[in-house]
Amino acid sequence: MKYTRRKFIATLGTGSALLMLPSVPGFSKPIFSGDKKLSIALVGLGNYATNQLAPALQETSLCYLNGIVTGTPAKIDKWKQQYNIPDKNIYNYDNFDNIANNESIDVVYVVLPNSMHYEFVIRAAKAGKHVFCEKPMGLSVNECEEMIAVCKKAGVRLFVGYRLHTEPHHQVAMKFRDEGKTGIMYVQSEFGFKIGDPTQWRLRKALAGGGSMMDLGIYAIQAARYSIGEEPLSVTAQEYKTDYKKFSEVDETISWQMEFPGRHVSNSYTSYTTPANRLYISTENRWFNLFPAFNYHGNHGSTNRGELILPDINQQAVQMNTFSKCILDNLESDASGEEGLRDLKVIEAIYKSVESGNKVKV
Ligand code: NDP
Repeated sequence: MKYTRRKFIATLGTGSALLMLPSVPGFSKPIFSGDKKLSIALVGLGNYATNQLAPALQETSLCYLNGIVTGTPAKIDKWKQQYNIPDKNIYNYDNFDNIANNESIDVVYVVLPNSMHYEFVIRAAKAGKHVFCEKPMGLSVNECEEMIAVCKKAGVRLFVGYRLHTEPHHQVAMKFRDEGKTGIMYVQSEFGFKIGDPTQWRLRKALAGGGSMMDLGIYAIQAARYSIGEEPLSVTAQEYKTDYKKFSEVDETISWQMEFPGRHVSNSYTSYTTPANRLYISTENRWFNLFPAFNYHGNHGSTNRGELILPDINQQAVQMNTFSKCILDNLESDASGEEGLRDLKVIEAIYKSVESGNKVKV
C-alpha cells in the first residue's frame, strides 16, 4: 500500500486503533466537540521545540501552535513572526501561571530540561491546562506519582512525549509477540550517541537527573517493555565510565538485563560515548530487527520473512494529533502519565542495581 506523508499523518492522527480504547473514567464527556482544534503552548524553546515540535504543529489536524513560554526574550520576535503567535499568548517562567486566565490555550507542552518537568507539569495542571510532557516524565517515581495525582485532581489529561508509540515499525514491534506466542522471547534494545558540548545541561545532574539512562536508555526500556508486553520483575545493571571529568555528575554508559514474568528476558545498553541504535526481538521461530530503531526518520526493519517496507511518518505530528484525539474524544492513551511512571520505576531499579551490584526488584 502506498501512502503520501500527509495522508498517513491524517490517518494515524485519528488512529483507528485508538478508537478501540476505552474512555477515561472521570472524563465521561468529550471536552470539545465539532471541528475544534486544540491550541497548544510550547514551554521551553530549545532544540526539540524549535526544530521538531513547532514545524510538526504546522502539519497537525487536531491541534495547532498558539502560544509560547520562554525565559529568553530574544527568541520571542522570531517565533511571533514565524508562527503568528498573539502577544497575549506569550509567557515567561515567572508569569506562566497567568495562563490559567487564558481561555485560548488548551494544552501546555513541557519541553524543558528534565528536572523542570515536574514543576511545570504541576503548574500547568493547576492552571487547568491539559499537559504534554517530554520524556523522562520526572526524575523519580515520587515526582511522577505526584504529577499524576495533581493532574487528576485538576481534571486535566497528562501525556508523555513517547513519539515512537505512533511509529509504524514500533507498532509492529508491539504486536510481534502475538504471532510467536510460544516459548521465551528475547529482546535486545540499545540506544546511545556520542554527546558533544561538555557544558550542556544534559551532563549536569541538577538539570538532567541522570545521564544517558535518563535521556536515551529510557527508549531501550520502553522498547523492551512494549515488545514483551509485560512489566519487568527485576533488573541487573552495570555502569562503565571512560571519561570521569565529562561524566563526573551523570552516567556515561550502562548495560542492564531485565527479567519478565513470562520468563522473557531483555538485554539493553545506553551510552553517551558509543553510538548504538537497535531493537531486536527473537521468539521461538521468528525474529524482528530494527536498525536504526529510534531515529525521527529512516528507521529500517527486517524480519525472518524479509524486509519491512513501512511509511516514514512525521512522528511528532502524529503523536500530538493522537494525544489531541484522546482529549477531544475522551480516549485512553498508551503514553499517559502512568506509562511515564512505569519507566521511572525501572530507571530507579537500574540505578540501585548499579550502586549495589545486585539484582533489584522493580
Ligand atoms: P534544549 O537544551 O535544546 O532546550 C531546552 C530549553 O529549555 C532551552 O532552550 C530553554 O528555552 C529552556 N530552559 C529553561 N531553563 C533552562 C536551563 N536552566 N538550562 C537550559 N535550558 C533551559 O533541550 P532539548 O530541546 O533537546 O530537550 C528538552 C526536553 O525535550 C528534554 O526533556 C529532552 O529529554 C526532551 N527531548 C525529547 C526528544 C524526543 O524525541 N521525544 C528529543 C529531544 C529532546 P528558553 O530559552 O525558551 O527558555
